[in-house]
Amino acid sequence: MATDALMSEADKALGEEICEFVKWVPRQLLLDMDEDKVKYPKEFLQEAGLRNLLGLRFDPKWGGRGLPWTSELIALEEVGVLGTSLGCLYALASIVGEAIHVFGTEAQKEKYLKPMIEGKIGPAEGLTEPRGGSDFFGATTVARRKGDVFVLNGQKRFIVGAEGADVLLIYAKVEGIEDPKRAMTAFLVERGTGVSVAHLYGLMGTRGGGTGRLVFNDAIVPVENVLGGEAGIGNGTRVFHQMMIPERLTSAGAAVGMARAAIEVAARYADKRTAFGRRIRDYEGVSFKVSESLTLLDAARTLNYAAGHAVDTHQGSGGKVRRLVSEAKKFATDAAWTVANHAMQILGGIGYTNIYPVERLLRDIRLITIWTGTNEIMDLVIQHEFYREFLRGSLKGRDLERDAAGAEYGEEKVY
Ligand SMILES: Cc1cc2nc3c(=O)[nH]c(=O)nc-3n(C[C@H](O)[C@H](O)[C@H](O)COP(=O)(O)OP(=O)(O)OC[C@H]3O[C@@H](n4cnc5c(N)ncnc54)[C@H](O)[C@@H]3O)c2cc1C
Repeated sequence: MATDALMSEADKALGEEICEFVKWVPRQLLLDMDEDKVKYPKEFLQEAGLRNLLGLRFDPKWGGRGLPWTSELIALEEVGVLGTSLGCLYALASIVGEAIHVFGTEAQKEKYLKPMIEGKIGPAEGLTEPRGGSDFFGATTVARRKGDVFVLNGQKRFIVGAEGADVLLIYAKVEGIEDPKRAMTAFLVERGTGVSVAHLYGLMGTRGGGTGRLVFNDAIVPVENVLGGEAGIGNGTRVFHQMMIPERLTSAGAAVGMARAAIEVAARYADKRTAFGRRIRDYEGVSFKVSESLTLLDAARTLNYAAGHAVDTHQGSGGKVRRLVSEAKKFATDAAWTVANHAMQILGGIGYTNIYPVERLLRDIRLITIWTGTNEIMDLVIQHEFYREFLRGSLKGRDLERDAAGAEYGEEKVY
């Protein structure tokens, strides 16, 4: 793989450790989840926690391993082979954990982050609302202060772990603050009166993760459960931007694993299956699909690694990191979709059945270009951050516009 040469001995050992955990996951669990027989596989998180494989980046003080992103990406790819649901449940400790790790009070870290990393409590995050997910700041869930508590009213849609998770990181706007960016606040909400699951979705894939619509009807949240406590009121925009790094890098990392799983199944099939008296992998129409898939996955791994390294080393402006992370998410998830389709095509008709897991992986992978910010939103971020830097004149080098014979005819340059 393209990034093998960049891996330390410790990274390789981590890869093996994760691989052992992935082998532990019961086949029946995957099948039951896909049939919606399971609502929330707590045992998966418990086992990952027991093996100290959750929240790898976080401070050992809270149970993490203090590893860089470049290592966590190795874990995400391995877990990704299990599909979107388990990949997501694994990643949520990294996503919700990031918010608590960076912005939480010591008490919040003790109460939520530590047991989350231990796999004892399952986290969920609520950003998307029925009226829209892309327009995050258009959210309508409100929090009204009443002394020492906030009263939450509103809804969140498509929340993985709506059914089953123990702590919900919910964004709501504090009533009375005009500017939506200054009103946005992140709350750590526990289940109780006023919090209910109104609907569980019938999903095309990514099943068994308890994805539902949450309703907050006068839900009481103590001020101490504002992420960051009193100081965290109105800090939701910063939390959101910070969380979008793991939100998107975890998608990018797991995408590579899912697509790798699909193409490995197809490649083995192509080595055995015959048509017109030859192995089908001897036909370019088949083998070049394998080549393209491997190349796409290596390109995705490399971009993921570069984005992860940029986050680890805080290289460049926040904007540059945001751009790289968005590029990684977009590229890896689009690549995974292409690869999953190549895999299905190679399998022919049998690929469209449940004899092989490729149809499940394909259904799962379809989601990842949509969630954690659609790939159109990734495009929006990428060009936005590019222009911000480009128009500031901070990109140095040769004046390229002058490399044309007619460059001096200024009157022809009409804008
Ligand atoms: C199975 C599943 C699990 C999910 N898990 C979670 C979860 O745990 N927590 C959570 O908060 N959310 C979750 N989501 C929600 C997901 O992140 C959103 O569906 C996604 O962000 C898109 O929001 P939307 O569905 O409201 O689509 P919309 O925002 O309504 O977008 C519809 C279409 O318009 C396009 N569009 C919108 N604005 C623009 C623009 N400015 N420029 C170009 N195109 C644009 C979008 O790209 C999209 O194609 C999940 C979704 C699913 C289906």
